[in-house]
Amino acid sequence: MKIMTKKQHFYHIITFGCQMNKNDSERMESILQSMDLKSTEMPENADIIIMNSCSVRETAERRVYGKSRNFLELKKKNPNLIVCVTGCMPGRDKKGGLKKRLHGVDLYFPTRDMVMLPKWLSELNPNLRPIDLEKDYLTVVPRTKNKAQTFLTIQTGCNHFCTYCVVPHARGTEGNRSLKSILDEARDLASQGCLEITLLGQIVNHYIASDPEFFSKTNPYKKNDFAKLLWELNQIEGVERIHWTAPHPMYMDDEVIDALTLPKQINFIHLPVQSGNSEILEKMNRRHDREFYLETIKKIRAKKPDIAIGTDIIVGFCGETEEKFQDTVTLFKECDFDISYNAKYSERSGTVAAKAFTDDISKEEKKRRWFVLQDLMVDIAYKKNQVYVGKQVSVLVDTYKNNTCGGNSSEMKRVNFPGKKENLGTIVSVKINRAAEWILWGDML
Ligand code: SAH
Ligand code: SF4
Repeated sequence: MKIMTKKQHFYHIITFGCQMNKNDSERMESILQSMDLKSTEMPENADIIIMNSCSVRETAERRVYGKSRNFLELKKKNPNLIVCVTGCMPGRDKKGGLKKRLHGVDLYFPTRDMVMLPKWLSELNPNLRPIDLEKDYLTVVPRTKNKAQTFLTIQTGCNHFCTYCVVPHARGTEGNRSLKSILDEARDLASQGCLEITLLGQIVNHYIASDPEFFSKTNPYKKNDFAKLLWELNQIEGVERIHWTAPHPMYMDDEVIDALTLPKQINFIHLPVQSGNSEILEKMNRRHDREFYLETIKKIRAKKPDIAIGTDIIVGFCGETEEKFQDTVTLFKECDFDISYNAKYSERSGTVAAKAFTDDISKEEKKRRWFVLQDLMVDIAYKKNQVYVGKQVSVLVDTYKNNTCGGNSSEMKRVNFPGKKENLGTIVSVKINRAAEWILWGDML
């Protein structure tokens, strides 16, 4: 008698862009694994390839077009291969113009439709097992490879419509998860050994709970739901570190700033500024000026003097003269940023900036300004990191190779030290003995 064994099917996911996309890819992994599929690192071995796209800059979209062309070759070898594109591209592509530039894509859907994957995939390949899912994709529990560190999405979309930004077009308006579902997920993560939770949202500090009755009576914060949420998460046993991204300067009120001193809050905040010039900020519709940002940084440092601060900056936005750019340079120095994600302005169709302003700074000039900021950042990072030499930092270990452990300190500084495999997934104390711009070295205590 011949025994028929079922063929094992494999998936390959490519994630572009932000941490929210990474978190969404983890949800899709969870869905595919519930359908008995296994992950493969090699696209040529996959039955299903999913590209989770990013639209923030044009270069990110170009990479998806390029890959879709490569996968056409794979489809010739494996006609059953299913290629999917999800994330921000289908989200913003209301008229289908982007889809036309893709090749051989079988499924093209915005992130929230990932719950349809089992149905669609099993229709395309009847050997795949469909499963039932709830309608809300946020109820899909992400499959995290690293149990000690996890993302927790608390908010989707954005209502701010900064004039350069495609996110509200791609991900829709702001939606906040219920407080109960966030606290349940956080407790669940803690019970599975999670030590560090990173809360995700486009304006994470604008979180509003639809079910405030779940806040404890003893919660010390009264006005700001995000500060209240941070306090609640601080009470969960097992969770050691709380991190969040990205807050908006406008909502850094006294309660949120005070919450930076809660015991489990990491010693780092990422606070995007985008530009140091008030006129450009207005044109970007950031709803605050240079002085407000500087004042906010002052208030943060008054509460927590040694906090590390990161930011996002766009150079070469429409109408950014050299003088205006210099305002960004001086703000950078004044804020003494530990890290900055610098971007060259990239015009995105559908945004107010694309419709109403001229993208008038040349590519070369954008590049030059970008290098000015990169060089400044490296100088400041090097200088700031020397302060850690001789000091003790706590490190959540996430890599191990050749007797060397690596991980992030509470300041989100990368730290390497001699260690053992058993240190992986634990928090250890390390005394720093050497520092470069992007790495600290030390010995475990
Ligand atoms: N919600 C976050 C940012 C989300 S987009 C906030 O408000 O700060 C992530 C970063 O991409 C932005 O902070 C910005 O620096 C960059 N970015 C967004 N649109 C861009 C564009 N059109 N060109 C270049 N960079 C852009
Ligand atoms: Fe984009 Fe502005 Fe919303 Fe951030 S706040 S996601 S930059 S529109």
